[in-house]
Parts: sequence; structure tokens; C-alpha cells
Amino acid sequence: MSDEIGYPTGDLMKGRRGLVMGVANKNSIAWHIAQQLHAQGATLGFTYANDALARRVRPLAESINADLILECDVLSDASMDAAFKTVEDKWGGLDFLVHAIAFTDKTALEGSFVENTTRQIFRDTMDVSAFSFVDAANRASKLMQPGGSMITLTYLGSERTVPNYNVMGVAKAALEASTRYIARDLGPKGIRVNAISAGPIKTLAAAGISSGRHMFSFNRMASPLRDDTDPRGVAGAALYMLSDLGASCTGETHHVDAGFHIVGMPDEASVKE
Ligand code: NAD
Repeated sequence: MSDEIGYPTGDLMKGRRGLVMGVANKNSIAWHIAQQLHAQGATLGFTYANDALARRVRPLAESINADLILECDVLSDASMDAAFKTVEDKWGGLDFLVHAIAFTDKTALEGSFVENTTRQIFRDTMDVSAFSFVDAANRASKLMQPGGSMITLTYLGSERTVPNYNVMGVAKAALEASTRYIARDLGPKGIRVNAISAGPIKTLAAAGISSGRHMFSFNRMASPLRDDTDPRGVAGAALYMLSDLGASCTGETHHVDAGFHIVGMPDEASVKE
């Protein structure tokens, strides 16, 4: 069975409460994940970064009966304190966390990595895009029982160079390493921590990358499936990792990218000189 927009329905997340951090609009990867978790019976809370996003996030969250809708800027300790305090006060615990947050200055997402990455840009990008998961995971883990699960979203630009992805690739490498260390720390408490490495998907964040169109067409051409990354596949992987289907899986970076990451060299016929 699946609901009208194609998210398989069921009871895999019934009775579980989770916080989804990173919905900006209906194209957000976090929104696809949220819809899939809702279709499997999860109770959801959402955080949004600032007032400007509230008017987009609130109606989406309300459309799937969100229990909590909270402002939370991950760069502010006070804002993180307040959001997680509300989760604790209202729910008294937490079963899962979705972290889908990244940001860098647009000037860093074009041209030369070595020339365009200032100290400030490097720090800020790491703070929002990597440290925020360490911080959120630490706070969330204090509210979790054994069986808790967390995911974050990453991209292949952490492992290979991708034009214009630049400092964000460095932050994603830190995010993936952080995922492994968090998994190691929280494993003895029975909490699983994983990352999904998604292929390019048309979202607000992706629109900030210079030569984005080339990125999409090259991925389509070179990937074994010869297709774009379907956000429903990302949502399905999230469901696997956050539910008991993913038992025993932790510290993993799982690629959902039409197979692009396995290709060392695209087929001759698919490359136009
Ligand atoms: P998006 O723009 O919809 O989501 C990014 C989110 O980060 C937004 O909701 C934004 O409000 C939030 N954010 C930025 N700064 C914040 C702050 N200070 N406090 C709180 N929230 C903040 O784009 P998306 O593509 O859905 O991105 C979600 C995640 O997926 C990101 O980590 C991104 O790097 C990753 N990802 C995206 C793609 C892609 O092609 N779109 C591929 C792989 C991984």
C-alpha cells in the first residue's frame, strides 16, 4: 500500500516520536523523509531556522498533524537549548532525529576552493553543516532510550572533488566522520547513527551551487541507473535506518544516488566530447 504521493504506508514508526530538522519548503529532502515517516505512523516535530521560513514550514507540518513546530537556529546555543527543552517538556523523550541542515556563503560555492575559502567561511560552514549534527545528536541522545536512531544527510563531494562544491565537501567529510564517532559513542546506549549520501536533488540548498545543471545532467548520464536521484528513495532509506528494519546498522554512510558513486569512468557512449 502507498499513500497518494507514493510513500508506502504501514506501522513501522507507530508510537515513535521524532524531530525533523531542516525543512525549508516542499522540495526539502527532510520534507520527503517526514512524509514517509508519517505514512508509517510516526509522530513528528519540526524545527525551522527563522521567522522567514515559518510561514512555509508551518502549513506543511500541520498538513501531517505535527505535534511540535519550533524555531531553532543551530548556530545559537540558546535556540538549541529552547528547542530541545520544549521536546523534553512536551514529549518527555525522543525516539529519532532527522538532521538535514547545511549552509555556506554563496561565494564559496563557485570557482576556486583554495582561493574562495576564507577563515570565516570555513568556520561558519563547518559550524552549520557539521558541528550542528554533533550538537543535535548529543542533545537528542539525552532524551533517547535504547532503540533510538538518528540520521544526517551528506553528499559525495565529501569523498571526491565535485566542481564548485568546495568547502561544503570538506564540511560533509567532517559530518561523515562525526557520524562514525557519534555512532561509536552512542552505540553502547543502543542508539544507532547513520548518514545518507544522496545524489543531486532540486532543492533550495542545491540551487546555491554554481553549475548545478551540469551536476544533474552528468549524474544522470554517468550513473548506472541513468536517472536522477528520486527523493522517495532517500526517504525510504531514512525509514530503513530510523525503524527496526535498520537494526544492527550504525556508523554507515549509505549512498542513494542512482549508483553514481561506484563509477570510476562513465561509458564512452554516454560522454559527449
Ligand atoms: P534545503 O534548502 O531544503 O534544506 C537545508 C536546510 O538547512 C533548510 O531547511 C535551512 O533552513 C536549514 N538551515 C540552514 N542554516 C540553518 C541554521 N543556522 N539553523 C537551522 N537550520 C538551518 O535543501 P536540502 O537539499 O533538502 O538539504 C538538506 C540536507 O541534504 C543538507 O545537509 C544538504 O547538504 C543535504 N544534501 C542535499 C543534496 C541535494 O542535492 N539537494 C544532496 C545530498 C545531500
